[in-house]
Amino acid sequence: MAAQKEPGFRESVNLMFNRAVALMDLSPGLEEKIRVCNATYTVRFGVRLRGKLHTFTGYRSVHSEHMEPVKGGIRYAPTVNQDEVEALAALMTFKCALVETPFGGSKGGLCIDPREYDEYELEQITRRFAYELIKRDLINPAQNVPAPDMGTGEREMAWIADQYARMHTTDINARACVTGKPLDSGGIHGRVEATGRGVQYALQEFFRHEDDKKEAGLSGDLEGKRIIVQGLGNVGYHAAKFLSEEDGAKIVGVIERDGGILDPEGVDIEKIHAWMQKHGTIRGYADTHFREDGASLLEEECDILIPAALEGVINLSNAKRIKAPLIIEAANGPITAGADEILRHKGTVIIPDLYANAGGVTVSYFEWVKNLSHIRFGRLQRRQEEARHRLLINELERLDRYLGDAWSMTPDFKEKYLRGADELELVRSGLDDTMREAYQAIREVWHGREDVHDLRMAAYIVSIDRVARSYRSKGL
Ligand code: NAD
Repeated sequence: MAAQKEPGFRESVNLMFNRAVALMDLSPGLEEKIRVCNATYTVRFGVRLRGKLHTFTGYRSVHSEHMEPVKGGIRYAPTVNQDEVEALAALMTFKCALVETPFGGSKGGLCIDPREYDEYELEQITRRFAYELIKRDLINPAQNVPAPDMGTGEREMAWIADQYARMHTTDINARACVTGKPLDSGGIHGRVEATGRGVQYALQEFFRHEDDKKEAGLSGDLEGKRIIVQGLGNVGYHAAKFLSEEDGAKIVGVIERDGGILDPEGVDIEKIHAWMQKHGTIRGYADTHFREDGASLLEEECDILIPAALEGVINLSNAKRIKAPLIIEAANGPITAGADEILRHKGTVIIPDLYANAGGVTVSYFEWVKNLSHIRFGRLQRRQEEARHRLLINELERLDRYLGDAWSMTPDFKEKYLRGADELELVRSGLDDTMREAYQAIREVWHGREDVHDLRMAAYIVSIDRVARSYRSKGL
């Protein structure tokens, strides 16, 4: 085994990048240009709270500006540090290239435990952090567009958008300075659940390919597949909800920061989620199936493991004991480079983060386009589409009358067919298409090259190649 010492997150991303470029024909100069993080800005600012001045530390890192604006979420967590933000920014570059969103990669973070502050305090802190970034153009519709990540959501994005608008009163595109906003602040239908939805679409696409399922020793479709999910936040909750409600998968385990629940008969995701919303913890939900050491559930029997919380949870200490034949990285960097090597040797199939959780940035792209075009998707076409469908329905109704009992329309066909697509349907269609296309590009490299044995390497090769082409076309 090459990696004895556990690599950090940034080192892990670098090791994965190195493994990919070793199989590519890039000049050493270009390879280095793509590897390095262009810039990281550290900001320390004070906010007066509870009668005292508190100093906070935040980061905004720009990994690659081969396309602008650069894009990447803002994370609120006490563990945020420069290495983590830079690793996440690099992943954003590769993710955006993979799903063909026209952005470079960036990421931001604030060292803060949001649970320690009330809403008013969080607003003061967020607005001040945003102010520091906006005045340096590190939030700007044309240059750098953040989004939610761990510990942030629609509420924080609305504050950031408003802060930008206050500081740029005549910028007609102000709303495009950040994505993941609530609908009434210029958001888009389907953004909140987009990353979880993308995880669902990624799995659906994987299960469409017999060869790929075979690699993981799986067969059939998602119906009845046993799933363990770690992290019941935005990404984990939506992925588990859609996979169980719409695809018939069985969620047998849920792992949270303060414990886990394992029930081979399947758990009720809605009920656990509602409990957590109310109590702020998974503790106390179902004592018979509760396990204090939640992380140990990562090692339980299941068909699909979905780490959807944070990085480094599958590492040298537990990789050997992971039983799931298929892991989909809904979180960023949940498997360290050392664990990745162990799992690959065991034959575990890993659907990598840069693809698996790209649903968020994909729908963020749609939101940004919506903000710049100042019109809701479908507004112009919807009724025209309905009118054309009405023509066909009229003809079918004529046929119906003519043929009498011999033929009739399926009862709800007319209603379904007549309805033009609304914004949510268009967003889902665009996301599904994106996830399918990206997967097909990856699997072409996975199955098409003899020196590529896993989806992660294939995904990195597709992405790095696209970034390299973009740099070359600029003459670099
Ligand atoms: P979130 O804050 O909504 O949820 C995170 C969940 O993980 C919370 O329920 C938290 O309690 C739980 N958690 C924290 N530490 C844990 C631990 N040690 N063990 C088990 N559970 C733990 O965050 P999110 O937005 O769902 O993001 C989760 C992951 O997905 C992150 O890696 C993030 O970078 C990635 N991601 C998020 C988005 C997005 O659109 N939100 C997009 C792409 C990637």
